[in-house]
Amino acid sequence: MKNKRQARDLSGETFGRWTVLERANRNEQGHFYYWCLCECGFKGRIIGYSLKSGKSKSCGCLQREISAEKMKEVRTMTRHYHRKEVRDLKQEIEYLRNLLKKHKIDYCAVAS
Ligand SMILES: [Zn+2]
Repeated sequence: MKNKRQARDLSGETFGRWTVLERANRNEQGHFYYWCLCECGFKGRIIGYSLKSGKSKSCGCLQREISAEKMKEVRTMTRHYHRKEVRDLKQEIEYLRNLLKKHKIDYCAVAS
């Protein structure tokens, strides 16, 4: 009988910006870590299920870029919102909501 927890070796596969170089050690639960190379050149050890689930897509550089992009758009939109006349308020709030939803931004995070 084969090892019941024989995990697929992810070496050579890509997940987001990660390219899996080689399998590393296991953690206490028996999950494998992988040495991965990010597109930006950063090398990191990532747990396999994070790669497979899409939880980890880069060393963090991708996340930083997305956040910067999001904030730029929100700032532009906020400036636009403040210039608008009150009669368009309902429409503006709707626009704001959609924009936030599109980028999956937490309402509270923007309001604070
Ligand atoms: Zn990176």
